[in-house]
This record gives sequence, structure tokens and C-alpha cells, in this order.
Amino acid sequence: MTNEPMPLSKARMEILSRAAGVCFDLDDTFTSSGKIASEAWRSLWAAHEAGLAMVAVTGRPAGWCDLVCRYWPVAGVVGENGAFYFAHDKKRRRIVRRFARSARKREEDRRRLDEVAMSVLRAVPRARISADQPFRIADLAVDFAEDVGPLTGEEVERVVEVMRSHGAAAKVSSIHVNCWFGRYDKQSMLLRFARDRLDLEEADARRRLVYVGDSPNDEPLFATFSLSVGVANVRRFLPEMKAPPAFITKGAEGAGFSELVRAVIRARASTKSGGGL
Ligand SMILES: [Mg+2]
Repeated sequence: MTNEPMPLSKARMEILSRAAGVCFDLDDTFTSSGKIASEAWRSLWAAHEAGLAMVAVTGRPAGWCDLVCRYWPVAGVVGENGAFYFAHDKKRRRIVRRFARSARKREEDRRRLDEVAMSVLRAVPRARISADQPFRIADLAVDFAEDVGPLTGEEVERVVEVMRSHGAAAKVSSIHVNCWFGRYDKQSMLLRFARDRLDLEEADARRRLVYVGDSPNDEPLFATFSLSVGVANVRRFLPEMKAPPAFITKGAEGAGFSELVRAVIRARASTKSGGGL
């Protein structure tokens, strides 16, 4: 099978030891069956204490990301599919927020997204605006399988069509269709975060940051980072993936995340050159 990633256990020490940080998807990569298991949580702390820059990357709303950035041991978080990053400014002891779009544009976008929402609900009456919409800053999330439905494939297609007819970008996750204005994505915002906050220019970021995820919506990031890792549950998507991860863990979901963190910490400890930022 051409898409078969290499088992993580076979990754060479010197490759893993160059990792400066781990960027991780949240749903079904860090969480297991919708919860953060104690093992994954302990691994996040272990990685942070070992000096790795831990960066959450998600489509989840700004309100959730604010909490993640404030309370979790992370260097920062990229949220709403790349609309922003939030990061700690350690010196000034405050949270820094950087957006892909200006404040004026975001206000204008919000009005346009309200129009998109009305068109979607008219065209697909069974669709609903997501329950987490009030906590979002930059995008519109239409629910098709979280608190409603699930809607049919045709209905989801129709939602996407209506969004695109308004000139918006639309992305289907496992529960929502997200839509936004502007040419940004998780990859562009993560590279900006790396440059701004970790002092890693793009070429270095691509080599020295690990990215771990679980599904087709992680593909652009698997393609970006040479240290790309899928947790075991990515396996069912491999046949249809254009950009599979380079490595795969034995464990699924949060257990896979922990396995990766252990491997990176071990590799860095084994070489003096491995390293921090
Ligand atoms: Mg995921």
C-alpha cells in the first residue's frame, strides 16, 4: 500500500530529536471518545516540562481557545481553522491575540456571515446554527450531526454550495460545516505563529515542528511538516488520503498522542543537540 506511513517506533532518533515542539489536533487526536484522558493530559505536561513548545491546532471556537491558552501548558493555540492564534507573552504576562483579518474586516465579515446563515437555513431547513456559535469570532458553524440530524450527504452538500455561492470558504468536519471569508487556513496561521512566537522561519518550522492529527482535514498539515504523525485511528482514512502522515502511532487517539510525546522526549534526551528553542 503506497499510503502506508512508517511506524513511529521505526523513526530514527536523530530525526525525532530535532523536534522543537509538537502541534496537535484536539478532537480524536488529543481527546479519546470526546474526553481528555488522564494519560494524554499527563503527556502534555511532560512535554511542556521537557521544554517542547506545545501548540493546539483546531477548528474549535475562540471562546474555547481562550481557555486552552490561558489554563493549559501550551505555547499557544491556533483556532477557528486558522482565523487566529492566541499565545502567552511570558514577559508581559498576558495573552497575545493575532487574527488573519483586521478588526474592521472581521466586523464586515460578521454581517456577511449572518446573511450566509439565513440563506443556509432557508435552503436546508433541517440544518441548525451550531451550539458553539456564540463563542466564535471569525466563522460560521452549521451543525449537521452534533445536536441535530445527522443530515443526509445531499443536505450537507447543499449547505456547502450555499456558503460558496456567497463567496465564502467552506470546510466540512465530522459534525459541522464551517465557513469564513478570507484566504487563510490552519497551515498559514500555524506558520505565522511559529515565526512570531517560536522564532522559526518557515523552512525551520517545517523541519522542526511535529504535527499530529487523525483525519483528512489534517492533510494540509501532514503535507507541511516533515515530522507528520497520524494517531492509529487515521488508518481508516489512509486509502483516500492524498497527503498521508509520514509516521503512524500504535495507539489510537490520546494514547497515540502520548506515545508520540514519549518518543520525542526520549529522542531529545538521547542527544545533546536535540533541542529547545
Ligand atoms: Mg481531529
